[in-house]
Amino acid sequence: MTERADCFVCRKHRGEEPVPGGPIYEDGLVYASHKAPPLDGRAYLGWCFVEPRRHAPGLADLTDAEAQAIGWLVARLSRALKAELNAEQVYAFVIGDRVPHLHVHLIPRHLDAPREYWGLRVDEWPEAPKGDEAEIAALVARLRTRIQDEGLRKE
Ligand SMILES: [Zn+2]
Repeated sequence: MTERADCFVCRKHRGEEPVPGGPIYEDGLVYASHKAPPLDGRAYLGWCFVEPRRHAPGLADLTDAEAQAIGWLVARLSRALKAELNAEQVYAFVIGDRVPHLHVHLIPRHLDAPREYWGLRVDEWPEAPKGDEAEIAALVARLRTRIQDEGLRKE
């Protein structure tokens, strides 16, 4: 259960799927990236994923070390998203009904998002800031710097 040829997340970690701006953070246990926009399109700005490197299906399958690393990165990246995007809130969702490799969705709620779009509908707000590949890559570079500036994870 280390990695799977047919798994989208494993493929992404191996560099076989497009990742705008490259990984935000990666080490031996965890990996973070921004959602890729559709071809010639734009993606909700700040929608990120935090994943274990290992092909672990869900939260219940993590080792203690992976769980600590995921928690560490979720906190770091949430802080970076709030600071870079002036977000009021950062949501964390784990659903996993389609891709059986744990991915924590981190989705900032942008300033002034109407209350009807709070929570699970946050990405449906038509006025939400979106980014093309270049804009996302620029954000990724800033998020990466913020995470690194706080210091490396202790193994
Ligand atoms: Zn996988």
